[in-house]
Amino acid sequence: MSQNCIFCNIAKGKIPSHKVYEDEIVFAFKDINPKAPVHIIIIPKKHIACLGDVSCQEEQVLGHIQIVASKISKQFKEMRNGFRLINNCGIDGGQTVFHIHYHLLGGRVFGWPPG
Ligand code: 5GP
Ligand code: ZN
Repeated sequence: MSQNCIFCNIAKGKIPSHKVYEDEIVFAFKDINPKAPVHIIIIPKKHIACLGDVSCQEEQVLGHIQIVASKISKQFKEMRNGFRLINNCGIDGGQTVFHIHYHLLGGRVFGWPPG
């Protein structure tokens, strides 16, 4: 837990959010500024700054996030034809909140390559 971290405080319930899933390892909530009809942020409860900082210790939590993303996608009819799971890492990757998180996006067709 990092006291000044927005996402740690969301996971603790100290900052309100629209929760869509929670277990002992992760917390998922709707993005405040959605970029698609469904836009969910999935975070580990443990504070890790970014994907560039992980080690083998985080193997289980990172794997778990993908399983949870798949599980959440089944709750939304908008994602029945597919979805996108994205991690932005560091300044060049477009990361703005430095608590590792994955964007689960659905409900429209996404372009490739990303901008
Ligand atoms: P990043 O740009 O770091 O990959 O993604 C951060 C995401 O967190 C952005 O899509 C932004 O809209 C979302 N976000 C930032 N602050 C809050 C907040 O206080 N509540 C919620 N629900 N989403 C937030
Ligand atoms: Zn944090």
